[in-house]
This record gives sequence, C-alpha cells and structure tokens, in this order.
Amino acid sequence: MMTGLAACFGMCLGSFINVVVHRVPKGQSLWYPGSRCPKCRRSIRFYDNIPVLSYLLLRGRCRRCGGRISPRYPFVEALMGALACGLWVLGGGTAWAGLTIGAAGALVAVAFIDWDTFLIPDELSLGLLAAGLLLAPLNPFFAQSLGDGAWYSRMLSSLVGAGTGFAICWATAEFGERLFKREALGGGDVKLLAAVGAWTGALGAFDCMMIGAFAGSIYGVSRMAAGTLKRYEPMPFGPFLSAAAIFNFFKLLPFGFPFGPY
Ligand SMILES: [Zn+2]
Repeated sequence: MMTGLAACFGMCLGSFINVVVHRVPKGQSLWYPGSRCPKCRRSIRFYDNIPVLSYLLLRGRCRRCGGRISPRYPFVEALMGALACGLWVLGGGTAWAGLTIGAAGALVAVAFIDWDTFLIPDELSLGLLAAGLLLAPLNPFFAQSLGDGAWYSRMLSSLVGAGTGFAICWATAEFGERLFKREALGGGDVKLLAAVGAWTGALGAFDCMMIGAFAGSIYGVSRMAAGTLKRYEPMPFGPFLSAAAIFNFFKLLPFGFPFGPY
C-alpha cells in the first residue's frame, strides 16, 4: 500500500521535475503559468496531465491540436515512480527514505538540464549541498561515523564528504585540463560532487566519481567510435555523476576509499 503510494508520489514528482527541467534554464517561474502544449500553447487540463497515464491514453499527442508530446515527459515520470518505489522499500519507509526520493529527484533534474544545456543550475547543486549538510543528523550513511553517530559527528562526516567531493572533482578537472588541453569538467560538476559527498560521505563522493567517470568514458568512446561525437566536442558529465549518485543511494560500492567510510 505505502509502496504504491510512494510510486504515485514519485510519478507526480517526475511531472514536477519535467517542469523544472523545462523552465529553470530559461529562468521562468515554476508555478505560473500552468502546463501548456508546446505546439498550440493552450493550457493542458488536469485530467490530461496525469503522469504517464495521460500520455498513454492520448498516444503522445495534445488533445486540442494533435501535436506530438516528447516521450521524455512520461519517461521521467515513470523513472521517478520506479526510483521512489525502490528507495522507499530499500530505506524501510523511514523519513530518510522520503528525503532520498527528493534528492534523487533533484539529481534527475540536474542530469536532464546538464544534458540539454551543459550547465548545472546552482539552485540545484548548492541546494542539494545545503540540504545534505542540514539533514546529516538523520543520515544513516553516517551512523558508523566518529563519535557513535551523534548528530554533530554526522554533520562533521557530511562536511568531510562535501569537502572530499569538492577536492576529488576539482583535482580531476585540473588534471584533465592539463592532460587533454581542454575543459573536461566544469565548476557545476565540482559543486555537484560536493553535494553528493554531503549526502553519501567521502566514500560516496569517491564512488560517484569512479562510476560516473567509467560510465561517461564508455559513452564518450562509443559515440566517438560511431562517429557521432568529435574529439573536441563538449560532452556533459553531470548526467553520469547524477546517475552514479542515485546508484549510491541504493548501494555504496566498497571501493575501499583511502579515507574509509566516515
Ligand atoms: Zn496542442
């Protein structure tokens, strides 16, 4: 029952994330006006705006003008439904599970915005960083931290995680720039990895960088091999970091980070 509710909540959150992805890069308001058809600009009625379901019933077209609606909308809604369901079950239905669903939503928004615009909005990266630090007393990732998981030691672990994430990403960016003579990672990625560290600690930030770099390289190399990406063409890294960070919420890989799991 609660799992079903979590899935529904996730799909509605996905619907909101679509609005965030569409409007935040343009500096538009999230609350006004309501959803509109991208073709005819007429507002979409609430019964045509039900996550996933409306898209399927209307076969991906606007009811008024028949214009095509991007399949990305139901995809993000279904993805968030699945993530919310998984995180809720894995987190044992706790308040923390609910908070990770929110964080996963912000990460999904980061992934799509970076994919579209090559930019990660500070509202999302720094917002996640602040939330991770402030919510650290509730964070089970830091239960084993120094000082038996007291609230202040959890906050310290979160702070160490954020600093480690920042340092790892900044060092990789510097190194990458010297090595490839081009910017491989931007300031947005550095802030994002700091935020990931605030939520999942130093080990989480390290895992995220490893998994993200691995997935990103496979994607970049395969697209270069297919001839659809040129050697010096920019490629967003945020989507891979975000995906890795969401993966971390499910399972932290024991990479044996030298600093250990604080
Ligand atoms: Zn329309």
